[in-house]
Amino acid sequence: MLFDRYRAFLPLSEHTPALTLGEGDTPLVAAPRLASAIGVRELFLKYEGANPTGSFKDRGMVVAVAKAMEAGATSVICASTGNTSASAAAYAAHAGIESIVVVPAGKIALGKLAQALMYGARLLVIDGNFDAALHIVRELSDEFPVTLVNSVNPHRLEGQATAAYEICDTLGGPPDALCLPVGNAGNITAYWLGFRRYHEAGRIDRLPKMLGFQAAGAAPIVLGHPVEHPETIATAIRIGNPASWCYALDARDQSGGLIEMVTDEQILQSWRDLARLEGVFVEPASAAGVAGLRMLASQGRAEPDARYVAVLTGHGLKDPGLAVEQFAAPAPVKAEMSAILGWLGW
Ligand SMILES: *Cc1c(COP(=O)(O)O)cnc(C)c1O
Repeated sequence: MLFDRYRAFLPLSEHTPALTLGEGDTPLVAAPRLASAIGVRELFLKYEGANPTGSFKDRGMVVAVAKAMEAGATSVICASTGNTSASAAAYAAHAGIESIVVVPAGKIALGKLAQALMYGARLLVIDGNFDAALHIVRELSDEFPVTLVNSVNPHRLEGQATAAYEICDTLGGPPDALCLPVGNAGNITAYWLGFRRYHEAGRIDRLPKMLGFQAAGAAPIVLGHPVEHPETIATAIRIGNPASWCYALDARDQSGGLIEMVTDEQILQSWRDLARLEGVFVEPASAAGVAGLRMLASQGRAEPDARYVAVLTGHGLKDPGLAVEQFAAPAPVKAEMSAILGWLGW
């Protein structure tokens, strides 16, 4: 359990309930075939899709909901592109409290919608994008007795930092660089927090570079100004005005890293490569870090001997529609050996 393993690094008191759905301790998968396709020596994949609701959001949500319970809250609220709502709804259900989730109309991947509905969240669909939804929940939580569990809740970031601890513990040291998608920029902030904490505690002797990647149609940090109508196939990072913008800049600058953008086409290529070359199926946004690393390598900007870790933020089954759309529906073949041998070309 995350709370036991990393208690010294988490904001827990003796009164914090021992909430858990079994989050954390996710696989760190060696990816030699993908590494050689990209042109780097060593690449590991931190597969956060293996969390209970299928994304890294669970690491932060378990802490945020446990702390809300400790404070006596009976209701939590969040804005979401999908995964935050799935996670908030699940942990609230397990804790026996209410969840209210605000999502943009028509832009939520099917799996995430199914989760919010099944876990019993009060699902408010708004005619507006994520940024508008976040504005609304911030106002509501200021005025009414409901706890905000977006990543602006500091407990979320503390919980998410545990992924950085796990990577260092598993590798026996820090990677040279960490590649990850950037949406609302909470996760890059949380990883940087985690690595710094481990460094200060003497658990690691140096800090990795943080390499963040936004989608080209939703790249406010790269462009240096908010994007009013963010567009990308990677719905989890379809965000035009990230809440943790300035912390992301700190992570980039203090680590000597970068935040750049990748096109939807580059994202989709790495999304397919992850599944076909390594057997790791993620949702499209999760492939942005790998797409970014591939872009750097192709431009001669990757360090050939560095140890890279790419964070794969969410599970592929979150967005099954997009996956199936990539392929022509196979026509049925007669259940007779001759027809089947013909199909196989044997
Ligand atoms: C939330 C999310 C992101 C973006 O993380 P931020 O903390 O918002 O930058 C990326 N991928 C997936 C799958 C997510 O759920």
